[in-house]
Amino acid sequence: MSLLDKFSVQRGLAASLAENSRVAPIATPMDDVHSATSATINGRRVILAGTNNYLGLTYDADCRAAAISAIESLGTGTTGSRMASGNYAGHRALEHSLASAFGWPAAIVFSTGYQANLGTLSALAGEGDTLLVDADSHASIHDGCRLSHATTIRFRHNDPENLDRRLERLGEAASRTLVVVESLYSTLGDRAPLREIVEIKKRHGAWLLVDEAHSFGVFGPRGLGLCEDQDLLGEVDFIVGTFSKSLGGVGGFCLGRHAEVEFMRMVSRPYIFTASPPPPVIAATHQALRKVLQGHDLRARLSRHAERVYGELNKLGFRLGTTTPGPVAAVVFDSRDDALALWQSLLDAGIYTNLMIPPATPSGLSLVRISLSAAQSDDDIAQIIAALAAHARRARPPLAA
Ligand code: PMP
Repeated sequence: MSLLDKFSVQRGLAASLAENSRVAPIATPMDDVHSATSATINGRRVILAGTNNYLGLTYDADCRAAAISAIESLGTGTTGSRMASGNYAGHRALEHSLASAFGWPAAIVFSTGYQANLGTLSALAGEGDTLLVDADSHASIHDGCRLSHATTIRFRHNDPENLDRRLERLGEAASRTLVVVESLYSTLGDRAPLREIVEIKKRHGAWLLVDEAHSFGVFGPRGLGLCEDQDLLGEVDFIVGTFSKSLGGVGGFCLGRHAEVEFMRMVSRPYIFTASPPPPVIAATHQALRKVLQGHDLRARLSRHAERVYGELNKLGFRLGTTTPGPVAAVVFDSRDDALALWQSLLDAGIYTNLMIPPATPSGLSLVRISLSAAQSDDDIAQIIAALAAHARRARPPLAA
């Protein structure tokens, strides 16, 4: 076996996907992008229903103006880490705004959401500590665990009893244990039972970090996420988030109820050994944060779209990743070919979604992930529903019993 033989599985998968689809379903090439909800793929204009642009802020006029103005005054990049020459007033101001939105003492901005998890988990937990993570967590959480050198234990996805048992077994070591969950899981669109998890971690004297990547901007009276929505900000210890979804930029953050978060930046390698986010990204993100905090209307619109799409998918007999409507609607299949067929038929109808297949999915499922955006029009939603209905009509055996 030689060095490159390990790629034979990927070679086979790429060949089979290429054979069965006219447009690459993974890493689909976008010829052009026109707005938060429209692009050209394979020479054809499509509605975007496979992004994380939940509020549609990538094209917001104020966010764009802020980015342009920052480029004009501060240039395109910082060329340095926050620990060296890349610590601009904009980075510090954004951290200040994030911390004060939550009423917490400290916030740290990272260059991506991926690095926010790597940098936070590896700074908070080390040898002798335990990370107790939901088994279906994002790769950045699992990779952060590896970087930390802490003992890592997985508990069953969204299973508070399993978490409880594992903490019980840890006994006194619970006080050196950080429980890590996401609030909204981006693949199936399901939500963590946060209230139960908080009760369990408190009872055992453990700590809790919630990754709000897909719920920041989307839930809560001020868009701070599902912890705010469920009135749990006084109970959760740390929150990680990203700028790359509802905020429409790139970057990430960690916030904490504990002032020691501030010192993480002195030890966190994914924070120290990488360039800080460029000025236009920081300026646009800061502007987007202001929009999020006042974004009731956008959230109400997104929630209306979610109710409508979930309602129709249920009526059509599709199997969904969760029953609770939200910004992600996952149509689940046991067979990869069935998922690919729906993905292709939606694209043929002018709707771009995400095809997700094992090993990137939980429980070996294949799925078509439909993501919604406040920027989609009612007509866009009608077209998405019509395309789903046309596919359901053609399905053999029929979907609905
Ligand atoms: N956490 C979760 C739960 C995510 O889904 C993602 C991205 N999909 C990240 C972190 C990483 O965020 P980013 O893309 O900003 O690096």
